[in-house]
Amino acid sequence: MASSDATSLVWLRDDLRLDDNPALTGAAALGLPLTVVFILDEESAGIRPLGGATRWWLHHSLAALAASLENKGSRLLLRRGPAAAVIKEVAAETAVTHLFWNRRYGLPERTVDAEVKAWADGSGVHVSSHQANLLFEPWTIRTGAGGPYKVFTPFWRACLAHGEVRDPHEVPLQLPSPALKGGGALPAGEDLDSWNLLPRSPDWSGGLADTWEPGEKGALRRLADFLDGPAEDYGTGRNVPGVEGTSRLSPHLRFGEVSPFRVWREIRERFPRKIPADVGIFRSELGWREFCWHLLYNNPELATRNYRPEFDRFEWQQLSSGELQAWQQGRTGYPLVDAGMRQLWQTGWMHNRVRMAAASFLVKNLLADWRIGEQWFWDTLVDADAASNPANWQWVAGSGADASPYFRIFNPVTQSRKFDSAGGYLRQYIPELAGLDGKAIHEPWKAANVPGYPAPLVGLPETRERALDTYSRLKD
Ligand code: FAD
Repeated sequence: MASSDATSLVWLRDDLRLDDNPALTGAAALGLPLTVVFILDEESAGIRPLGGATRWWLHHSLAALAASLENKGSRLLLRRGPAAAVIKEVAAETAVTHLFWNRRYGLPERTVDAEVKAWADGSGVHVSSHQANLLFEPWTIRTGAGGPYKVFTPFWRACLAHGEVRDPHEVPLQLPSPALKGGGALPAGEDLDSWNLLPRSPDWSGGLADTWEPGEKGALRRLADFLDGPAEDYGTGRNVPGVEGTSRLSPHLRFGEVSPFRVWREIRERFPRKIPADVGIFRSELGWREFCWHLLYNNPELATRNYRPEFDRFEWQQLSSGELQAWQQGRTGYPLVDAGMRQLWQTGWMHNRVRMAAASFLVKNLLADWRIGEQWFWDTLVDADAASNPANWQWVAGSGADASPYFRIFNPVTQSRKFDSAGGYLRQYIPELAGLDGKAIHEPWKAANVPGYPAPLVGLPETRERALDTYSRLKD
């Protein structure tokens, strides 16, 4: 094809941003007519359908991205269908010669990308793929014996010794206008509303909309607010669910609205001389995100299979629908678990310490299979992540890599006394407990009259014993 006919296509996926988007920067630098496409793929084999909360997020994130692209002279083309087939269609419509994307790490996604790459190679389309969403790509970090890591601390040490993290790419000043079809028209896109990503009848998304600003602008604002405020006290603040002591960047990172390379650089710029210890702890949490992807890359069935195969013999209990609903709806009678589950339902997010307590209650006190909780979180979290969600559930269950030992059973009463001692977080999400003081609120069943709040679903000491017994049988 003559070079005057050449055109570029950027295929955006979980990288819904202009800043530090090497696929976009690379295409912009080439200067050819440029089409930018996002494909809603619910059909390719093995692709996990999005949950309700991430569908809501995706809608707003795409709307924000489309506006940012238009500001730069470009446009977002929306298409739906099996991604490999759709890319080929768009490529034919716009006579694409150069295709750009940022790499993905899940097996079904890699399989789609490999199919597209093979087609492109056979069709004379040049493919350029980039590292954008992980600081350390899973295959680059290996143990001395050449295998994947199973334990976080040596993994993160190896990452930090791997070499300098690259600088982020700046937002392109201008983007080339899109490629036209033969007749001079822009390829037809689909209407975002027609994808029905937003909940209707009932519309449960009010609390999400009050809490979040999906899109790159919201992500960068969160990052700046965090680094200006709680970052330097992160080591203690991150454990207190009643204060905004963490970054709340998780959904923004999930959708790639902010690049981890940008986060890394911003930290270095704010603290040029020495990174404070608390900020170092924050960086290692970003390391956990990398570790989860390392695990998923090396164990593609992380969401469905026990990482430790001995757990295949574990005697999970079948919950009654009433027990499961009590957990899902925040009506277990244990305030910390209930506040967390209600925070999740209302805002699409739950504080990490409370996630651990709520998950431990489900898999240890109720002995439910961790996959049941993982699926509920998948549907309700705005940050539901294909790697972090199953890796953390398996960590809590004890079936995962570097997992919490089986005898570590979070006691929700001790945890709330310790991390929400005055009960402010509990009161925020459980209005029935508003009248109890900071002492009584952690064990409301001991108070005389708490109308509307349930009695404990199960006893803590006996379910703890039952869990320990069940876990100990694994060793037989
Ligand atoms: P910060 O404390 O500000 O941490 C910064 C970033 O580091 C986070 O945004 C996140 O990207 C990463 N991070 C922090 N902790 C972890 C962790 N334990 N594992 C992996 N990455 C981490 N996190 C998700 O992003 N998606 C999930 O689907 C998810 N499911 C979870 C399920 C369970 C049962 C548990 C116990 C934890 C889960 N987490 C998940 C991890 C953690 O709870 C959230 O990342 C964190 O609460 C997000 O809030 P933040 O952005 O304020 O975190």
